[in-house]
Amino acid sequence: MKSVKRKCSRCGNPGLHAKKRPAVRTVAGHSFKASVPALVCDSCGAVYFNGPALGDFDLAVANKLARAGVSDGEAIKFMRKAVGLPAVTLAELLDTSPETVSRWERGVSHIDRAAFAILAGIVTERADDRSDTLERLRALRHPTRLGQMVQIDA
Ligand SMILES: [Zn+2]
Repeated sequence: MKSVKRKCSRCGNPGLHAKKRPAVRTVAGHSFKASVPALVCDSCGAVYFNGPALGDFDLAVANKLARAGVSDGEAIKFMRKAVGLPAVTLAELLDTSPETVSRWERGVSHIDRAAFAILAGIVTERADDRSDTLERLRALRHPTRLGQMVQIDA
């Protein structure tokens, strides 16, 4: 059992242990559970999850939502946040307005299929450490100038 030099902020116990602890996220009526790395105080039982581990968990949840095609507002917002995209940035990338993204996320209107497919693609790629779709969307906003003759390295 690994002991970590960090004090329990609840009881002052100086040695926290790295363990896995259950975490649950409920999004759009579905609860997702996982065993997530955390620091645990053996004296008072306090559990401290770290940001990156929770970020990975959120990304895994978003990936499930994306792959299952869960497209209601809460799921859209969760997916966008899991990949760290501000609403304004997502709107720019999808060539729509921040108001439209806000309407999707509040459930006022339903996201169109093409936009969902793009957002879901961004999420599933991120879970796979890739960013092809994001790079393509950014290239569309700021195209690279291609010369008339382009060398392809085969
Ligand atoms: Zn404690």
